[in-house]
Parts: sequence; structure tokens; C-alpha cells
Amino acid sequence: MAIKVGMVSLGCSKNQVDSEIMLSLIRKGGYELCTDSGMCDVVIINTCGFIEEAKRESIENILEFCTLKKEGRIKAVVVTGCLSERYREEVAKEIPEADVILGIGKNSEIVSAIERALKGETVVEFGDKRDLPLSGERIISNLPFFAYLKIADGCSNRCSYCAIPMIRGDYRSRAIEDVVAEGWWLAHHGVREINIVAQDPTRYGEDLYGKPRLCSLLRELCKIDGIRWIRLLYLYPERISDELIALMAEQREKIVPYIDMPIQHCNHEILRRMNRPGGREALEALVGKLRAGIPGVVLRTTLICGFPGETEEQFEELCDFARRMQFERLGCFAYSPEEGTPAAEFDGQLDGERKSRRCEVIMDQQMEIMDRFNRSKIGQTLEVAVEGYDRYAGSYFGRSYMDAPDIDTKTFFQSDSPLSIGDFVPVRIEDTIDCDLYGTVAGEAAE
Ligand code: SF4
Repeated sequence: MAIKVGMVSLGCSKNQVDSEIMLSLIRKGGYELCTDSGMCDVVIINTCGFIEEAKRESIENILEFCTLKKEGRIKAVVVTGCLSERYREEVAKEIPEADVILGIGKNSEIVSAIERALKGETVVEFGDKRDLPLSGERIISNLPFFAYLKIADGCSNRCSYCAIPMIRGDYRSRAIEDVVAEGWWLAHHGVREINIVAQDPTRYGEDLYGKPRLCSLLRELCKIDGIRWIRLLYLYPERISDELIALMAEQREKIVPYIDMPIQHCNHEILRRMNRPGGREALEALVGKLRAGIPGVVLRTTLICGFPGETEEQFEELCDFARRMQFERLGCFAYSPEEGTPAAEFDGQLDGERKSRRCEVIMDQQMEIMDRFNRSKIGQTLEVAVEGYDRYAGSYFGRSYMDAPDIDTKTFFQSDSPLSIGDFVPVRIEDTIDCDLYGTVAGEAAE
């Protein structure tokens, strides 16, 4: 009987792609993949080690499966990903019950590590982060019609609060041919929505070709038959070029008018201390350029509140900026001091309560902005990708171009005819509640 292997994939979409590549290697290695971790013989926890909260979640998951192992319900616990990469020996020392602890540079050896663990060996190996496999066949672990396409890994920016460069190393682009080949492979396997991810897609190609090549890559991806939506996530604001804006306007049938660009803050002094360029004027000009250059563009951003030394005035400025820019989608994080990052040593660390309160203020304001924006969609017809049917609500649900997977809102809708996951249908918007949209199918599903 085949050994059953399950994967708990934590953290970001980039880590999810790593999980999917490992799952493909494991299946090729003759193991049976199992989605019910309670039924597995071996459980892999592909961890996140980015901020305190994520680290806690990773450790809780590891300990939960170590307990199942102690109870004899599973044979082996395997730890991979950013937590083991960042805290190498500490993880091994703190969690001796884990059978395998691998750094990201050892992901391609996941099958032999499992075999050794099943023979009773404890495997603790880290390797060179640059050996992390960025390409290879994958087992798509989310709904089958969309996928994340990781075009690079690592980051060469040095934001003073961020641990990612320490964990993932410097920026490494994949070759254009390699990414495009994967795009065709995904389309051939039924994917219709590609979400472009990297720590900073705007830097794509600089390390490999000596200059940014994101636009060249996108032009090639736009040629792929069967791909209906291409979405750009994690763009570095200061590197969004006029060429990219023009390309998005030109190719809006395929590259959806949606941009996720973490801005983090708008105050010049705070940005300087975050080791990020720019300031309020430049950011406002950029938002203006995007709205003018790509009509109907939906802008998503992320802000950090409570950065060391952030005064009430600087926070007020951030609130005012977010109010004026009217981002359609916005996430806000309370600053989390990460050991090993410069900002963790900065003076003026704020208490947790003040940081959370500031986040609440921003998000309360944002709820009003999103509600107003959603109300402006009532009466319009949007193309929606069907994600499922909610028996409880008695309605289908899905996402329009305005919503990225996992991080944004949903559209709930009625349909007289039966629909399948991955159908793209026109939905007439009739209402909005709690930032979700509600409507009725207004026509046939797209071919
Ligand atoms: S751009 Fe900055 S915040 Fe983003 S991964 Fe790189 S260093 Fe971290």
C-alpha cells in the first residue's frame, strides 16, 4: 500500500508554489498524495517565517503533528520552508521530534529525505538557498482554474523592517522562456487565470538580462491561448514604469486592470527609515498616473502602522493619504519587530496597543471607502470567475477582475442554469453587503 503524504502549506503564494513543486516530486517518487492530514503517514509543514504571527502558526502546526506522531497516528513529520530556513539549528534544537528539517535549498531532495525518515533517520539539512527549485511541474493546490506563476524568488531591496532577504536571499529571476513554458503548461492543464508573483515583480530580469524585462515577459504571456486573466501582484511602486502602464492599457483584455502595490507608508521620513524611496508627492503622482493610464484600474495596497518613531502627525498623514487615494483594496499591518532586521533595533518602538489601534483606524476608514466603491458597481455587469456554490447562502460565488484570490472580496450571485467552477459568467451587480457584491447572471458563460 502506497505511503500517504500530506502537505500543510503556510504563508504566501510564493511558498505555495514551492509546496506545489514538492508535491509533484513526491507523487513522481511513488507516494500517494493525501489532502486529509489525519489520514496521512507523512505530513510536511511548509512553513512561513516572515513575522511573529506567522512563525507562531508554523510552530503550532509542527507541534500538532508531532503530537499525532507521538500518538502513533502518523509516521513522520517534515518541516520545510521559511521558518526552518531562517532559524535552521534553532528549529532542530527546539523541535527534536521532527523527523526532517530542510532549508529551502533542499526542497528538491524532499523525496529522499522522506525515504530516510521512514527508515528511522533524522534528517536536518539546509544547503544553499539559491538551489531552491524555481521551476518544474506542479500539483496546483487551489481551485484548478487559477494558478500563481512565480517569476523570481528572493529580494535585493533592503526594507529595514523585512526579514525576507535574510530568508530567501537576493533576487533571482527565472529565464523568460522558462516562465512562458510554464504559462503554456498551466493553460494546457486548464488554468485560465495567472497571478504573477515574486517578492518584487518590477525588478524581473535585472539580474539575468541587465535590465527590467517584466513587459517583455507579459507580452509573451499574453500570447498564451486559454489564459483569460493575467494579474500582477506585489509590484514595487517606485519601479512601476510608463511602459508597464501603457502595456496594461493596451492589453487590458488579458492583463486585468488590477494592481497590487504595497506602499507601506507615505511619510517621507518614515519611508527613509524603512529604507524605501519616495514620498507622498511621488506616490500621489503615481496613483494619478495609474488611474489616468488604465481606466477602471483597481488598486490594492498594504500599509504598515506603528513603525518605530511614527508620530501621531505622521499617522494622521497616512490616514489622510489613504483617504485621498481611495484604494479599492487595502490591507494594514501593525509593525512587527523582526530580529536581525535594522528596524528592530530602532528607537521609538511603539506599544502593541497603539499599533493595533492605528490599524483599526485605517481599516475602519477603508471599509467606508470600499463600500462606496462597491456601491458604484451596482447596475453594472462584471465578468465573474465561478469559484463554487454556497449551499447555505443558496448562491454561487466567485471573483471579478477586481478581486485577487485569497486576499480580496467575493461576488455572490444567482443563476438559473447550472454553472461549473472555472466558468466565466457576466453578473449584473444588484447589491453590496460587508464589502462583497451580490447579483444575478446576465447571459451565457464565456467560451
Ligand atoms: S520589497 Fe522590501 S518588503 Fe518586499 S520582500 Fe523585499 S525587502 Fe521585503
